[in-house]
Amino acid sequence: MRLVISCMDYRLTEFLMRISREDDLIFRNAGADAYGIQGSLSALTGVSEILYLPHNDCAAHKLAFKLLKGQETASESIRRRLTAHLQGLRLTSEEELMRVNVERNVRLLKDLFPKASMEVKTVDVYKLNWPIRKPIVYYAKSTTRYSEDMIGAYLLQSTTKDDVSIDLEIALQKLGIREFREIENNEDQPLRKAAKRD
Ligand SMILES: [Zn+2]
Repeated sequence: MRLVISCMDYRLTEFLMRISREDDLIFRNAGADAYGIQGSLSALTGVSEILYLPHNDCAAHKLAFKLLKGQETASESIRRRLTAHLQGLRLTSEEELMRVNVERNVRLLKDLFPKASMEVKTVDVYKLNWPIRKPIVYYAKSTTRYSEDMIGAYLLQSTTKDDVSIDLEIALQKLGIREFREIENNEDQPLRKAAKRD
């Protein structure tokens, strides 16, 4: 089974539709943060491949940088989630913050899945076609695949909803998202069966 870990950003959905395989488990949260979904990840077995996909121009990284510089405020849970691991580091740019984040995420993923092969690719959003941004955030299970109406919305994906609750807060409080929708998984979906086999 392959894990695909990326950000909830609205611009990434079409890209993920293109590259995902049928039995992938997809995880998406604020900033492609494996720490945020650690609970869900550590419960998984049979993971042979990981595709880690952070991206540039990330709202979560921008917010983290502003919080560190005192240029923005947020609730304690959001602040902790985005900046706790960055305290004491002298970060001079968002790019540097992203680099540090990628390093620590790769470290965690290697610790959690020492036998899995890992590919890390920073998605350049400037090379993607940007859909019209919808002020909606969806939560879907990791086995859910996307429908056309999800394109342009933010998308949280995990195996347990609790793991993305702070990410939902980030979307609603800091990204101007006004609506939350939950996608019901279709029990007949072949993906679900494929994931269970491992
Ligand atoms: Zn992002």
